Amino acid sequence: MSIATFGVIGAGQMGGGIAQVAAASGLQVILNDINEDLVLRGLNVIGKNLQRAVDKGKLKEAERVRTLNRIQTSSSLEDMGAADFVVEAATENEPVKFKIFKDLDRICRPEVILATNTSSIPIGRIAAQTGRPDKVIGMHFMNPVPVMKLVEIIRGLATSDETFETTWALSEQFGKTPAQASDYPGFIANRILMPMINEAVFALYHGVGTREDIDTVMKLGMNHPMGPLALADLIGLDTCLAIMETLYDGFKDSKYRPCPLLRKYVEAGWLGRKTGRGFYEYK
Ligand code: NAD
Repeated sequence: MSIATFGVIGAGQMGGGIAQVAAASGLQVILNDINEDLVLRGLNVIGKNLQRAVDKGKLKEAERVRTLNRIQTSSSLEDMGAADFVVEAATENEPVKFKIFKDLDRICRPEVILATNTSSIPIGRIAAQTGRPDKVIGMHFMNPVPVMKLVEIIRGLATSDETFETTWALSEQFGKTPAQASDYPGFIANRILMPMINEAVFALYHGVGTREDIDTVMKLGMNHPMGPLALADLIGLDTCLAIMETLYDGFKDSKYRPCPLLRKYVEAGWLGRKTGRGFYEYK
């Protein structure tokens, strides 16, 4: 099946980025969120990203306009009836994603692939919400999507070869490099990354170092482009906590227990950059 219209559910930092790269690759995009304000906020961020690229001489003005014009906004999931491929990038919360997949299964044509950008929820569990588990797959983009090259592609137990190959080819069409992972908690990326971030939060919690010292050690000592606490703020502390909970539930191994300080920040609404405060403060 040829893919001309690409649906994105969730217009937050990931959904907006995914919509941007899909539109830049020439696809018509339907960007959906729960209300018009949230979609417009997402579209506004895309507009600013594209304008920045023009200002830096990396994008032609005509291409900026063409890319933006390819994105249609939506606040009704029913609009996904027109999509040839859908990727879900809504909040990392099982009941939220389960409901979306149940609804998409009813709304989308039977041949349409339903991908999820989940960071950690098992693909098989999401696929089981639908009558098309062979067409459900993980398509895990990295943050910020327009910049980061990797797409981790996760096959559920029932994912078909055709679904896998289509998703792989689409990732390449977006200018990304795909890598394949199996459907185990955290897949590859977050199974390795998130315990490191959680350990950095434990180091802060135990007073081993200040936030700046912890991040400096990892940046200068390990050559990481960002320190783990700054990276956690970029990812979103709620998303980090949700991933740790999934690892902990999935493996039943105490090494994945979320740090109490991470939970405390999330409960206080200190979610990182998106709320203006996490381990650091943002204007
Ligand atoms: P976010 O909070 O920035 O955005 C989530 C968006 O989903 C919000 O705009 C919210 O209104 C919307 N949403 C919630 N329920 C919805 C529904 N029923 N229908 C439509 N939209 C709905 O979160 P994010 O960081 O963009 O994360 C989105 C997904 O991407 C999560 O599954 C997350 O685990 C995954 N992910 C995040 C990162 C990261 O670094 N933040 C990286 C890779 C993957």
